[in-house]
Amino acid sequence: MSEFPHLFAPLDLGFTTLKNRVLMGSMHTGLEETGDWNRVAAFYAERAMGDVGLIVTGGMAPNLEGAVLPGAAGLFDDADIKNHSIVTKRVHDAGGKIAMQILHAGRYAYSPDCVAPSAIKSPISMFTPKELDAEGIEKQISDIVTAAKRARQARYDGVEIMGSEGYFLNEFLVTRTNQRTDEWGGSYENRMRLPVEVVRRVRLAVGADFIVIYRLSLIDLVPGGSTWQEVVQLAKAVDKAGATIINSGIGWHEARIPTIATSVPRRAFAWVTKRLMNEVSIPVITSNRINMPHVAESVLAEGCADMVSMARPFLADSQFVAKAAAGNSDAIVPCIACNQACLDHTFSMKLTTCLVNPRACHETKLVYAPTKHPKNIAIVGAGPAGLSTAIIAAERGHIVALFDGASELGGQLNLAKQVPGKEEFFDLVDWYQHQVDALGITQKLGKIATADDLIDFDEVVVSTGVSPRDPQIEGQDGANVLSYIEVLRGAEVGKKVAIIGAGGIGFDVAEFLVTKHSASVDLQAWKLEWGIADPAEFRGGLSPEGPQPDKPERDVTLLQRKKQKLGKTLGKTTGWIHRAALNMKNVAMIGGVNYERISSEGLWISDGEARENPRLIAVDTVVLCAGQVPERSLADELESKGIKCHVIGGADVVAELDAKRAIDQGSRLAATL
Ligand code: NAP
Ligand code: SF4
Repeated sequence: MSEFPHLFAPLDLGFTTLKNRVLMGSMHTGLEETGDWNRVAAFYAERAMGDVGLIVTGGMAPNLEGAVLPGAAGLFDDADIKNHSIVTKRVHDAGGKIAMQILHAGRYAYSPDCVAPSAIKSPISMFTPKELDAEGIEKQISDIVTAAKRARQARYDGVEIMGSEGYFLNEFLVTRTNQRTDEWGGSYENRMRLPVEVVRRVRLAVGADFIVIYRLSLIDLVPGGSTWQEVVQLAKAVDKAGATIINSGIGWHEARIPTIATSVPRRAFAWVTKRLMNEVSIPVITSNRINMPHVAESVLAEGCADMVSMARPFLADSQFVAKAAAGNSDAIVPCIACNQACLDHTFSMKLTTCLVNPRACHETKLVYAPTKHPKNIAIVGAGPAGLSTAIIAAERGHIVALFDGASELGGQLNLAKQVPGKEEFFDLVDWYQHQVDALGITQKLGKIATADDLIDFDEVVVSTGVSPRDPQIEGQDGANVLSYIEVLRGAEVGKKVAIIGAGGIGFDVAEFLVTKHSASVDLQAWKLEWGIADPAEFRGGLSPEGPQPDKPERDVTLLQRKKQKLGKTLGKTTGWIHRAALNMKNVAMIGGVNYERISSEGLWISDGEARENPRLIAVDTVVLCAGQVPERSLADELESKGIKCHVIGGADVVAELDAKRAIDQGSRLAATL
């Protein structure tokens, strides 16, 4: 019997059957906008080959005013139908099924031409939308219906109508965004008229044997959001209007509560979907922070949903489902929910990829072909750069030896995993260890490699990483000063702390020092921390008490020399979460300082170039998080002896180094060895 009986039970939809309960959720990758439809097709076909039950594409605009941004892909004409047909054919040839998401962005559309039920600007947009008149509303319905018809012409198996996350259809539901007084506003009956009408008209247009998923916002997480009673009323109406499946939407984009970041506990919102289970006659899908087959299985086994949606895990590993089915779950590359190469890219207008899998969305460009000439390859440094190189080189057929001075694999990932909210790094390090073992890579750990150890190899890769930068502050050798490495390895730290340096590591160390128990592994504590309540009790699922975090463990001050706001260099979609989390724990953040000296009383600072306002921050411990320098001693030694090597990761360039760049560089090198 399968290890995951619920996950691998087929789902009979009457006119068609899905082979398992896994939906690959919609993601905007930017691939369609490249115009290279073979590349789009390769991306989806690889996931279909990996046996996912049903794929949902990234959101396609039904018209120009509803496009997320000017130039966003849609299904506007016959040429688009032809392009989309390339994708559906490849997915079907691979044995898969695929539905196209129709996304009308409403007031979130990044354009002065955006439209909405009322002319109310979103706090996360610079454009005030135009209020639609009755004719305008009819046009939007008709455009959505036309997009659905075209999707059928392009041989999609269905459509997903995006009705959540604060987009167009969702905006009609609540008075926060809908202050109309005509038949499309006012009472809830009127406010839900548009989504229901859209489903009804789409069903009429596409016929009975076509999947229509409605993505419904189950918990808005914004003031004035829907009540649970309204959610159920809409779900029942959407069911009656002809939807095949209801998918869960969690939180509007403008919500100030994280919903998918790594610090969100796994399956954090399955309880909300569970409430809907006996209310409708059609299958219900749950979503958000489900990233492993055993998590998905538990959600289904507990009756929280009929099906599970996972999106980013399919960037991390296209073969997720096939590996789980084959009893090989340990080989699934874990999505760590970092957003660094997916959503952060999308919001920076860059093509989506994945920190742990740089091939994602580059399937046709980055190819790991089996080697015809196996070589002996030495890799020194078992951090993310070295590990990626080792695994891909070994997969390609090379004979790999991996050296590291530490007794365990993982390098700086072993520090990151100690940070509250970064528990996913444990699984990532475990996955690396599993792959290194499974591929028979020789592990030479606990030994610093020298040039003499490396002379017999065909290729030498130096991925020795970084060392902490010496900030050269007077008094930094005092007993009250620690490096971030010492802190994250468990050194004793006083109750009052100053942190020098507010980059990613400074923020991580602050989080580590103010937190006693990580709320990311305790759903009730996490909900309390962020002020999440039951939508059946409070509108939008927001607690009237607001966030109620645990008392901070320490009194922490985070400092930097630059004048700008602290945390500006953190992830585009996650920086606000780190800042909010530290603000909730009363961490003082001071920029534009000079570090004058450290004494037994604490840290002496002054302000700006004129060194004004000299003062003492009285603390027990000062922690140095002042960045890194490349660790190049081995590379230099090899060079001096005339031994050629490839230098990658932090040992190569340290500026803006993070695991994303390290893994990308390692993977690309391994593809060419
Ligand atoms: P970083 O992001 O470069 O930050 C270094 C910090 O040290 C800055 O705040 C800098 O600010 C300060 N600094 C630099 N030179 C200094 C000096 N001589 N004296 C005193 N302060 C100095 O480096 P990091 O925090 O060590 O992180 C390393 C890498 O890991 C980064 O790429 C980071 O993005 C990544 N990382 C990311 C995350 C994440 O959440 N995504 C988490 C951890 C690490 P001033 O120059 O203004 O003082
Ligand atoms: Fe997951 Fe991070 Fe990859 Fe995005 S970049 S898919 S969040 S591991």
